[in-house]
Amino acid sequence: MPVRSHTDIKSLIRSIPDYPKPGIIFRDVTTLLADARGLRASIDELIWPFIYQDIDYVAGIEARGFILGGAVARELGVGFIPIRKKGKLPWKTIGKEYQLEYGVDTVEIHADAVRRGDRILLIDDLIATGGTASAAIELLQESGGEVIAAAFIIDLPFLQGAAKVREKGLRVHTIIEFEGE
Ligand code: AMP
Repeated sequence: MPVRSHTDIKSLIRSIPDYPKPGIIFRDVTTLLADARGLRASIDELIWPFIYQDIDYVAGIEARGFILGGAVARELGVGFIPIRKKGKLPWKTIGKEYQLEYGVDTVEIHADAVRRGDRILLIDDLIATGGTASAAIELLQESGGEVIAAAFIIDLPFLQGAAKVREKGLRVHTIIEFEGE
């Protein structure tokens, strides 16, 4: 069992009430990422279940999933696949639309980013309703990838996103939880 960190990750996250709209508490990880021990502890905590797992790629969701996912990929000794918002990637893309509270959004990857049978770990900073992660997982699966797990620093369990992703048969690893939107 790897040595676990004693850094208090939760206390390093800034909570901003009524952002981006009234009633939402935005969980801001920039304060965690700016703290040297916080950043290291976050990456250590994200990777520990996967150290002995057979993984080919880490996929990270724009934008905070890039910062964390890049570091996780480096630690696990595998490559990184960016999952971006619509229209950002320069080569041929495939996309997946998903429902937001108001309207729709699309996540995209390069059409040649994943090969059949690639084993992928998905990373983002936070899972709320699970809509973004589910779209990313379906996109990777439709490209032939085998998404073995998804890992997040923060879970908002009252929104049941982690449960939704677990229902797809994936392992979901989260580090801390916040109650209340
Ligand atoms: P969802 O698709 O509902 O699971 O939302 C997850 C995405 O939205 C992630 O990329 C998060 O970074 C972002 N997000 C959702 N809710 C919050 C929140 N309360 N604080 C910070 N980021 C959030």
